[in-house]
Amino acid sequence: MNVYDSDRMAESLAAHGWSRVDAPENADLVILNTCHIREKAAEKVYSELGRLKRLRAERAARGETMLLAVAGCVAQAEGEAMLERAPFVDLVVGPQAYHRLPELLARRAREQGAALATDFPVESKFDHLPERSGASPVSAYLTVQEGCDKFCTFCVVPYTRGAEVSRPVAAILAEARQLLAAGAKELVLLGQNVNAYHGEGPDGRSWSLARLLEALAELDGLVRLRYTTSHPRDMSDDLIEAHGRIPQLAPYLHLPVQSGSDAVLEAMNRGYTAADYRRIVDRLRAVRPDLALSSDFIVGFPGEREADFEATLELVRAVGFAQAYSFKFSARPGTPAASMRGQVKEAVKAERLQRLQALLAEQARAFNEATVGRSVPVLIDGPGRHPGQVVGRTPWQQPVHLDGTGLQPGDLVTVTITGFHPHSLAGRRAAGATVEGHA
Ligand code: SAH
Ligand code: SF4
Repeated sequence: MNVYDSDRMAESLAAHGWSRVDAPENADLVILNTCHIREKAAEKVYSELGRLKRLRAERAARGETMLLAVAGCVAQAEGEAMLERAPFVDLVVGPQAYHRLPELLARRAREQGAALATDFPVESKFDHLPERSGASPVSAYLTVQEGCDKFCTFCVVPYTRGAEVSRPVAAILAEARQLLAAGAKELVLLGQNVNAYHGEGPDGRSWSLARLLEALAELDGLVRLRYTTSHPRDMSDDLIEAHGRIPQLAPYLHLPVQSGSDAVLEAMNRGYTAADYRRIVDRLRAVRPDLALSSDFIVGFPGEREADFEATLELVRAVGFAQAYSFKFSARPGTPAASMRGQVKEAVKAERLQRLQALLAEQARAFNEATVGRSVPVLIDGPGRHPGQVVGRTPWQQPVHLDGTGLQPGDLVTVTITGFHPHSLAGRRAAGATVEGHA
């Protein structure tokens, strides 16, 4: 979502005469777009700010000015505190105020002192951001929902991104058409809780994510559709069925489970059990047998005993994941879990993370290996690792490197997979393979 947000910020500033540069050394304005989800990410912001402060001093010595803005969830969470700790920052702007960037910058140029925009405004920023512009990547992000009302006890998102809001269907379809016209072939719908989507439809009724996906699948030129991140509690019947019905919907779902222990899941306030999760997976695989799953895990949540952790390993073995992200629990200020009893020692967290990651890596390897020898549709993204190569992705999100002769970004080709690496595949165009995507 931060990639999407950064693009939208750049587009809104472009309308006011700013353009992108590729290094801070040449920039009149540097915006750090930040993440607050774990302590490590949040702390990085201050080390990066230290670096930029030195750069700014060097520029000032040459008579040049450089404005410094901090955007994103660290800006939202820290607000005034950030201006105290880093008083050289010119602008602190939360995720709901990006549409105000041009105005805030103009004000900053007129007045002295830093500007702070971390209120949750009543109007939606989406109504004030300019239309999408410029060429689109083959795979384009599109935010359909923001914020979260779930309040998992470990998570800062409900505090930094605010309450759950869904964009209206018409606005999403309009943005999707612009992206497809600009070269996108795949749309990745984004939301902190994307399957809780319930935006207003053109008929005045509330539409579910399944219904939105169906409307998007009818757009000309759309080859693939994905959505992320989903919550197991919102995997409704119609959404599960959509996976069997909508051909463009990729057979790949990121569905974070966090833990395989019911006691831990309850303490996390996740609202499902390990058995519930497994049932959802079974139902998804019943309608879409080739569905691959990815997930998020937290180890060392307060109160997690060895037996709880083993239940997580057990669930991983039972479900089988193609890909996964796993983290040590990070106590976030202001969240209930930060002050829970039974905080787990760092060494125990590290040891559990290592065991879990070894199992997940083995599953990811086996998943890639199983693709070898098969012929699969690959959507070409762009230049590959070596000269003359291109890289594309399988329906299961695996990057494939292959000879790029006669291929261009956006083509959909059948590729025979010839080998695998830990994080990618190698392949060659299947004989007589059809090429789609050329105009
Ligand atoms: N809405 C998604 C997750 C968004 S946050 C969901 O409910 O699944 C992305 C991931 O960061 C989470 O799935 C979780 O695994 C991890 N995460 C969030 N807060 C964390 C914390 N305090 N410590 C460690 N990992 C955390
Ligand atoms: Fe955070 Fe996801 Fe839980 Fe919402 S559902 S509080 S975003 S982990």
